[in-house]
Amino acid sequence: EDVIQQIAAGEVIQRPVNAIKELLDNALDAGSSQINIVVKEGGKKMLSVQDNGHGIQKEDLPLLCKRHATSKLRSFEDLDNLSTLGFRGEALASISTVAHLTVITKPPAAVAGLKIPYNRNTALEPPGPSPCAAQNGTTFIVDDLFYSNEQRRKALGSAAEEYARILDLLGRYAISRPDVGFSCKKQGERRPDLHTVAGTSAQDIIRVVYGASVAQSLLPVHLEEPGEKMDTSTAAATFSFTASGFVSCTHYSGRKGIFIIRINGHIVQCKALEHSLEAAYYSYARNKPFVYLDIKLPGDQVDVNVHPTKHEVVFLHQEEILTCISDALESLLQGPIQ
Ligand code: ADP
Ligand code: MG
Repeated sequence: EDVIQQIAAGEVIQRPVNAIKELLDNALDAGSSQINIVVKEGGKKMLSVQDNGHGIQKEDLPLLCKRHATSKLRSFEDLDNLSTLGFRGEALASISTVAHLTVITKPPAAVAGLKIPYNRNTALEPPGPSPCAAQNGTTFIVDDLFYSNEQRRKALGSAAEEYARILDLLGRYAISRPDVGFSCKKQGERRPDLHTVAGTSAQDIIRVVYGASVAQSLLPVHLEEPGEKMDTSTAAATFSFTASGFVSCTHYSGRKGIFIIRINGHIVQCKALEHSLEAAYYSYARNKPFVYLDIKLPGDQVDVNVHPTKHEVVFLHQEEILTCISDALESLLQGPIQ
């Protein structure tokens, strides 16, 4: 039983950034407007995520880290119209299986905060929840990731590598959620390495995260496709989507292109989309692409709630939609030089 749990958890959480992503999603699902991250040794020794969201009720604490304990899904019909980032109730169970997890939470209506350590899905008793001073919201502290699994620990990169992964992810979240303030720093440092203020424009966040030269050369993208297309092989197929965001047309000189793709609220990877964007870009620019696209598809056309281990997202009418987007990008990029 224990071994199976460890394996399942190890699939969801492979490195510190996976824990950060799950905790960020939870913080956003809790309606937070400010999220602060602190990291020690690239998250291998410690990572914490503090939010100012709605907090966790006392009675929910004992089962918080049990597998499939979720407050977000009530019926299967909900799945197509899910407005939350999480729904499986797997993340906290997994994190508490592979690390020491401590939760501090205070719903706005509560007088004091509660602090609870978890170990292997279970709230540790004694001491159990102890009252403590806390701001409104929730803080998750993850200590000693993979403390009982040396092999897993050895598979991790250096502190600097793991920290770079965290900053990369956080930049993506920050750009796609300008309504939320994010900060991230190393423990013991005063200066954050990433810091955005809630309410800043996406362009300004891009400037903060990727530098002035990228931010200066941004072209806004707005695409709306109510398009109808006949698919001769099957029944009539219709698809619709909107895509908005920015592409930079010059000066991004990093070693790799940057593609920030958000589909129905989720930051995802879509290699197929990256490839067709890269091709569109290649015909125009010598520099590496910077692309941020916020894509909205009808809920039944995409499954963005892919299992945490599957990073790739696939959707219906993918071919047609990718063509639409890369064609639009190509003509957009060609625009300025004509
Ligand atoms: P899921 O997000 O899929 O529901 P998780 O294991 O990530 O599952 O979280 C379990 C539950 O814990 C959530 O459904 C939510 O009720 C609660 N929770 C987790 N993080 C927070 C948070 N930052 N603020 C408030 N509630 C939270
Ligand atoms: Mg979650």
